[in-house]
Amino acid sequence: MRTQVGIVGAGPAGLLLSHLLHREGIESVVLEMRSRAYIEKRVRAGVLEHGTVETLRAAGVGERLSREGLIHQGIELRFGGRRHRIAFEELVPGRAITVYGQQEVVKDLVAARLASGGDIRFEVDDVALTAIDSERPSVKFRAAGERESIECDFIAGCDGFHGVSRDAIPAGARTHFEREYPFAWLGILARVAPSADELIYAYGDRGFALHSMRSPEVSRFYLQVGADAQLESWPDDRIWAELRARLETVPGFSLAAGPILEKNITAMRSFVVEPMQFGRLYLAGDAAHIVPPTGAKGLNLAVADVRVLTRALADWYARGDASGLAQYSATCLRRVWRAQHFSYWMTTLLHPFDSDDAYARRLQLSQLEYVVSSRAAATSLAENYVGWEP
Ligand SMILES: Cc1cc2nc3c(=O)[nH]c(=O)nc-3n(C[C@H](O)[C@H](O)[C@H](O)COP(=O)(O)OP(=O)(O)OC[C@H]3O[C@@H](n4cnc5c(N)ncnc54)[C@H](O)[C@@H]3O)c2cc1C
Repeated sequence: MRTQVGIVGAGPAGLLLSHLLHREGIESVVLEMRSRAYIEKRVRAGVLEHGTVETLRAAGVGERLSREGLIHQGIELRFGGRRHRIAFEELVPGRAITVYGQQEVVKDLVAARLASGGDIRFEVDDVALTAIDSERPSVKFRAAGERESIECDFIAGCDGFHGVSRDAIPAGARTHFEREYPFAWLGILARVAPSADELIYAYGDRGFALHSMRSPEVSRFYLQVGADAQLESWPDDRIWAELRARLETVPGFSLAAGPILEKNITAMRSFVVEPMQFGRLYLAGDAAHIVPPTGAKGLNLAVADVRVLTRALADWYARGDASGLAQYSATCLRRVWRAQHFSYWMTTLLHPFDSDDAYARRLQLSQLEYVVSSRAAATSLAENYVGWEP
C-alpha cells in the first residue's frame, strides 16, 4: 500500500491535516487506534481562537460551527470579592473566541473526510514508524488482526501526547522541555444552562475554579484539586458545594446546578519536544507539545501546526520547494513557546500553590490587580487569549 502522507492519529490535528491536504490535491491515510464513536464523544477543549475559526471556515468545515458556536467578546477574572471583565472588543477589536466543543470539530472533520472519500482506518493497533530518515518511510500497523504496511513520502505524527510518533525520533536527536504542576483539574460537564454569558476564571484561597460552557443547555466547570485527587472522593454534592464556594464570591451571582454528565481529572503539565521534525517525520499538536488548559491553547496550537505543515507540503508537491519543510519546526516553535509562556503564566497567576507562603500570595494578587487595572496588561492577556500571530 502507498500514500503520499501517512498520518498517525485522528484527533483534531490529524483530521484537519488530512482534510487540508485533500484540498491541495495531496492524498493521505489516517490511522487511529480508537473507534469513530469514541473520538466523536471525547470531551476536551472548547475554546477556539479567532484564527482557528477562520481556518475551519476557510476549509469548508465551519458551517455548523458558525451556526452553533458561541462567540465571546470577553472573559471575567473574579477575585477579592469582585468581578473584572477583560473586554476583547475594546482591547483587541475584531478578534474574539468561539466556544464550540472539540468533539464537534472532530465530528465535522470526520464527516468532511468521509464525504470526500477520505481514508481513515479506525481501531488499528501496534502502529510503528520505520525508515523515517529515508525517502521512503513507512507506517506498520495491525487492522482486524492482519499486519499491514503503508509506504509514504512523509509521515505526520498527530497521535497526541501518549502516541508513538515522538519516540520514533532517536533519543539523541530530540530534547524535551517540561514542567509539572502540583495540582490537577477536576472537570465536569453538566446539563444546566450556564450561569453567566462568558467564561469566569475565579481565584481564591480555596483554589481556582473555571465556569465555562459548551452550549446554551450544557455547562462545563473545572476545579483545582490535588495532583493525586481521585474521582471517588468527589461525589456530585461535594463538587457543587466547592464550585459554589469558589464562584459565588461576588454579590448577585448564584450558580445553577444540574445533572453531571461526565467527570474527569486532568493532570497539569507543560511539555515541548525540539525539534518537531526528524527526517521525513513531522510532529503536530499534542504529539509535540502540551500546555496546562488554563490558557485554552492546546487545540489551537494543533490547528496552527497543521496550517504550517499543509503549506510546507503543498509547496513541496507543487514546486519541489523544500524550504517550508526545512523550517517547519522553527516556524511552529515561535508560536508554541509564546503559548507555553501564556499558559504557564495564566496557570501560575490563577492557582494558589500549596507551597506558597503569604508573600507569594500577595504577589499573585498584585499581578491580578495589575492585569485588571492597566490597559497594557489587560491587552497583553487579551491578545494572547484570542491568539497571538507571530
Ligand atoms: C480536559 C481537557 C481540556 C482541554 N481544554 C482545552 C481548551 O479549552 N482549549 C484548547 O485549545 N485545548 C484544550 N485541551 C487540549 C486539547 O484537547 C488538545 O491539545 C488537542 O486534543 C490536541 O489535538 P491533537 O490532534 O494534537 O491530539 P489528540 O486530540 O490527543 O489526538 C490524538 C489522536 O491520536 C490517537 N492515537 C494515540 N496514539 C495512537 C497510536 N499509537 N496509534 C494510532 N492512533 C493513536 C488518539 O486516540 C487520538 O485520537 C484540553 C485537553 C483536556 C484533556
